[in-house]
Amino acid sequence: MLYYNGQRQTGTSNHSIENINPANGQIIGTIQTASEDDVQKAIESAKSGFRIWSAMSPTERGRILRKAAELLRSKNDEIARIEVEDTGKPISEALEVDIHSGADALEYYGGIAASLHGEHYDLGASFAYTRREPLGICAGIGAWNYPIQIACWKSAPALACGNAMIFKPAELTPRSAVLLAEIYSEAGLPDGVFNIIQGEAEVGQLLTRHPDIRKVSLTGEVGTGKKVMADAAGSLKHVTLELGGKSPLIIFDDADIDEAVNGALLANFYTQGEICSNGTRVYVAQSIKTEFLKKLIDKTKLLKTGDPMDIKTQVGALISREHFEKVLTYIDKGKEEATLLYGGERFEGDQGECKDGYFISPAIFETDDESACIVREEIFGPVMTVLPFTEETEVVRKANDTIYGLAAGVFTRDLKRAHRVVQQLEAGMCWINNYNVTPVEIPFGPYKQSGFGKENGLVTLDAYSQLKTVYVEMDKIDSPY
Ligand code: NDP
Repeated sequence: MLYYNGQRQTGTSNHSIENINPANGQIIGTIQTASEDDVQKAIESAKSGFRIWSAMSPTERGRILRKAAELLRSKNDEIARIEVEDTGKPISEALEVDIHSGADALEYYGGIAASLHGEHYDLGASFAYTRREPLGICAGIGAWNYPIQIACWKSAPALACGNAMIFKPAELTPRSAVLLAEIYSEAGLPDGVFNIIQGEAEVGQLLTRHPDIRKVSLTGEVGTGKKVMADAAGSLKHVTLELGGKSPLIIFDDADIDEAVNGALLANFYTQGEICSNGTRVYVAQSIKTEFLKKLIDKTKLLKTGDPMDIKTQVGALISREHFEKVLTYIDKGKEEATLLYGGERFEGDQGECKDGYFISPAIFETDDESACIVREEIFGPVMTVLPFTEETEVVRKANDTIYGLAAGVFTRDLKRAHRVVQQLEAGMCWINNYNVTPVEIPFGPYKQSGFGKENGLVTLDAYSQLKTVYVEMDKIDSPY
């Protein structure tokens, strides 16, 4: 379903997408994708929505966003089930995290909307001021791992600043964004302010190349980010890119080992490893490596892989057959270049209805080969590689030896070392003695080829607004003519 002019619409292209449940390979439904004509209608819808929304008082805008947050939370369980069917992630996660973290963004930016302001400049006889104005129509393009969260993280700051948005969910997870659009409408958002189009890369390109769109915010792969930036350059759009990663997690010899093991599990196996910021290169001090690995493997063995709808499941199904095969290929490659210590098998188990699902048991590799594929490339599945180190300078150099720069983690009890190391890490989001915690108040975003720009926090408001400077002459013009 598409959504524009404040209601569901059917795509009119001659192409449809099958929405498949990764837990059993069955078709949930088909979605007719957007034609060029549909995209143009969504643009016209956004234009009329923008006229109304940008003229409303910021207090009123904030109230609607906060109301939408409330409605979103009230539909938590219903949306969580849809998210699980679309993504294959465990219901225990979706119930606790995905919808709540989206609602947090609506609530946070809804609370801030009325505080957006410009500044006044006293120039003696004259003065100037700035106005913080919306950009216009923004495009949001989402990845499939956190569909509703991504839709909320992009739309909440955009709408708080008075913009309209056209959002394209990933083709594999098309449903929850439409529910968000309905929630916005129910909360009082004027028609056309938040619109959904569905489709693949070509449909995304209709947005990134459209001259009437002023900004594009993408969550996706590095290669997609490069294409989106090139297309956006045609009309010099503002661009935010939240891309892939191969992040390091460094565990020093003085770390609390049980905490570090929990950190490594959190950094690798949550959402079956399909998290951009995951710390998939786990550097462990040589002197504690044996103890760390024993505890890590013991705990990994306890993780329950399987039916995502089972509340006890901790590792769900990978998003698609294609991705599942890709991750298995990486595991096969890993077996040639590293030592597989645990897991990494196609998981069948006693699965009942889920016997045809795309499950892989969490894999732990060990190697000291920094050039191995599984150490250098983003796998985006439940695959952790443990690497040894002895010196602080050595591990910082190894941690930074990557094209990516999304995130990093450090476990140590030595406070000075923690800050000294973090200062040297080339990553936009660093955690000390924890991993993958992303409260809405703090900016989240990448360095290097993981992209640029932030989501969350106050700073994101700068990315969805522009400053107009107004000079006011109060005296006679001092003219040489
Ligand atoms: P993709 O890059 O394949 O797709 C992302 C989105 O872009 C999809 O909606 C996709 O459509 C669309 N798209 C693809 N090509 C184009 C194009 N040329 N122009 C416009 N839009 C396009 O990423 P995935 O969906 O496979 O997601 C996984 C990736 O996302 C991983 O690399 C992961 O690290 C990254 N990611 C980054 C996050 C961050 O915050 N930094 C968070 C989450 C994920 P379609 O679905 O039809 O292909």
